[in-house]
Amino acid sequence: MSHQVDYDHRLTGARRAVFEACLVCRHVQADLESVRAITKDDRSPVTVADYASQAVVVHRLREAFGEIRMVGEEDAAALKDGTNAAVLGKVLEAVHLVWPQASEADVIDAIDAGGAANDEGHGEIFWTLDPIDGTKGFLRGGQYAVSLAWIEAGEPTLAVLGCPNLSADFQRPFDDPDPHGCIYYAYKGSGLWETSADEADKDGIHLTRLPRAEDEPARVCESVESGHTKHSDTAMIIERLGSSSEHSLRLDSQAKYAVVARGQADAYLRMPTKKGYVERIWDHAAGSLIATEAGCAVTDIHNQLLDFGHGRGLDRNKGVICATMSDHARVISAIEELGLAPAGA
Ligand code: AMP
Ligand code: MG
Repeated sequence: MSHQVDYDHRLTGARRAVFEACLVCRHVQADLESVRAITKDDRSPVTVADYASQAVVVHRLREAFGEIRMVGEEDAAALKDGTNAAVLGKVLEAVHLVWPQASEADVIDAIDAGGAANDEGHGEIFWTLDPIDGTKGFLRGGQYAVSLAWIEAGEPTLAVLGCPNLSADFQRPFDDPDPHGCIYYAYKGSGLWETSADEADKDGIHLTRLPRAEDEPARVCESVESGHTKHSDTAMIIERLGSSSEHSLRLDSQAKYAVVARGQADAYLRMPTKKGYVERIWDHAAGSLIATEAGCAVTDIHNQLLDFGHGRGLDRNKGVICATMSDHARVISAIEELGLAPAGA
């Protein structure tokens, strides 16, 4: 079917783009100290890797598909300012690992293709990218993700989630970076696929999520950062599920969606911390499709589906609940019973 061929073709290009961005991020992470030294700013490594990752993804997608519509987290405004010449130099150095002919102007142009100034006219079909999701994890040497999704009519229909530090081995601690890493990918109806993050174009494995034994309590994962999820709310929900919040798995980035999708946890809870905060589409687009393709449910705390059709933010949603079908229903009931999602909140 022509529809099918189109998705396979898109996936091939998207996988190549994310694979190369993961290589670039790894390269920067391996050299954190030298990158830090350029500006004496602790955030400079993630800045360099963010820009380089977005440039590489846009470049590879353009090569595969021609001009693209991209809603990315970054734009190149700061790089065009001469005071950041050292950062731009490091970005170019990182990009050259996979795109050796790139000039400074090429890199700036590719980054800006995803900037907000270009959002007008994207219509209902576009790519969205978080070039490094989980910046705190990246800096700590923990989990982070390169997250790319294709949105059609407010819904992610294709996703590639690169998790360069996530081990395929469930026993490996999240703060012990894996030498290989994992890439998860899916399109709507494909099921969930996994491949190692260190071999390009390797055939993936089709994952089947194994349910936990009935007598075992639900395993829950959540953000490390207390500013990104309300840990006191998640603790109450976890207790309602018959588990102990002491055992919640804490990790940065959308790797949490992958951890639920592959059966290492049963739920990912993201309870709002600030009243006015609007979740960013690139923080959830790829992860949510990865989880639903593994048979899990993803909604907000009011049990509404995530709506990716309103610009850069999930304006119509609050928080995120991703879980197996049965645990999702239990979490939503717990939230209602505990009064954690009052109407209008
Ligand atoms: P995580 O790694 O899951 O903790 O989430 C990282 C993401 O949290 C970042 O990409 C930010 O876009 C996002 N973020 C920033 N502030 C907040 C907030 N107040 N509530 C929820 N998410 C946030
Ligand atoms: Mg992010």
